[in-house]
Amino acid sequence: MKVAIMGAGLAGLSCALTLEKNGISPTVFESRSQVGDRFVNSEIILSALCRPHRDPLAYLADTYGIFLHPVGHISELLLFSEHEKAVVNGQLGFSTIRGRDADSWEKQLARQVKSEIVFNSRHAYEDLLEEYTHVVVATGDGAYAEKMQNYQTDLTVTIKGATLEGSFNRYAVAAWLDSRYAPQGYSYFIPYSEHEANLSVAFPDYPQNENVDADQLWQHLHETVRRDLGQELKITDSFSITGYAIGLCNYPRLGNTFFTGNCFGAIMPFLGFGQYPAILTGIYAALDLCGKGRYEDLTRPLRKSYQNALALRRSLEKLDNKGLDLVVKALNTKAAERLFHSRFDFLKGAGMLLRALPEQ
Ligand SMILES: Cc1cc2nc3c(=O)[nH]c(=O)nc-3n(C[C@H](O)[C@H](O)[C@H](O)COP(=O)(O)OP(=O)(O)OC[C@H]3O[C@@H](n4cnc5c(N)ncnc54)[C@H](O)[C@@H]3O)c2cc1C
Repeated sequence: MKVAIMGAGLAGLSCALTLEKNGISPTVFESRSQVGDRFVNSEIILSALCRPHRDPLAYLADTYGIFLHPVGHISELLLFSEHEKAVVNGQLGFSTIRGRDADSWEKQLARQVKSEIVFNSRHAYEDLLEEYTHVVVATGDGAYAEKMQNYQTDLTVTIKGATLEGSFNRYAVAAWLDSRYAPQGYSYFIPYSEHEANLSVAFPDYPQNENVDADQLWQHLHETVRRDLGQELKITDSFSITGYAIGLCNYPRLGNTFFTGNCFGAIMPFLGFGQYPAILTGIYAALDLCGKGRYEDLTRPLRKSYQNALALRRSLEKLDNKGLDLVVKALNTKAAERLFHSRFDFLKGAGMLLRALPEQ
């Protein structure tokens, strides 16, 4: 068996690691000159959105021998709407660092991988298919799957983010459900050390948002956070992304090709979380290649999570700031906090409920 993996990101490297542990040495093809050669940003994983797994990092370590450390354990989540605020405390999940930083998750994975990684690769999928018995597409977008008419884009998103310098509690993250900062989207503040944090706005590219200026929204949010924290919050780096696709492939495997990570449909449309599903799809593709499961079956729960998260997103998008105030108010209760810490699959529950409601 000769396996080619296109993309040395979360899905591709997790796939390579799992194959190695099972005695198969794949070749990884990466278009950039090194792993994680892109802007630095911080991201989060909320354990409540990874059910049935209670602790996603412990699960990866104990079950698959994949070891990743976060930059912070989230013990406080602050949620803001126009007039309400919710505070959720406890062991809520992890913050991670991505991109060029030496501790980024892709770099942590690359340090564990022994297989060859071919950098600056210009190999097209079609070339690899000729030379290898199996190809794992892990390019971080749905482009190849779409080309093969195997991907449905549900929305695209504009994201504007920057790194801020200041004095932060690295265990507390904040998010805004407030159309003044992100119409039909969300904004977030994730520290990745005591001195650096990521502030971002993300909103969908719907026709009604055509004239929305991401820079202006971001500046408005920056001013609010500066005022609230009473700090200068100097910008040291920034990034802008347009047309970031969120979608799902129709078939996770076509012949000897596996679609993993964002090519599979890892990004949960609600809040855009995709790191954990991306890693799982990489592992699951490898398990199939090793004869330890069928990729289609293993990824079925992730497809359901995607659909549930999409239903949740579509419902939230219908709410104006008054409606979002009600959501945030409801989250500022002991019952909501208990939900975060319970085994309850929040996405599944919300998705089932919302899809059962009549369309408005
Ligand atoms: C700004 C931003 C914020 C986010 N925030 C969060 C968050 O808070 N929580 C969360 O869970 N998720 C978040 N996500 C989503 C998450 O980062 C992705 O879902 C996840 O990284 C997808 O992993 P992947 O392996 O599919 O792609 P990646 O990790 O991006 O890896 C893809 C790799 O493929 C390479 N590549 C591309 N094309 C080719 C080619 N033709 N040949 C060879 N190599 C190629 C790329 O260079 C890259 O190295 C965020 C995403 C963005 C953009």
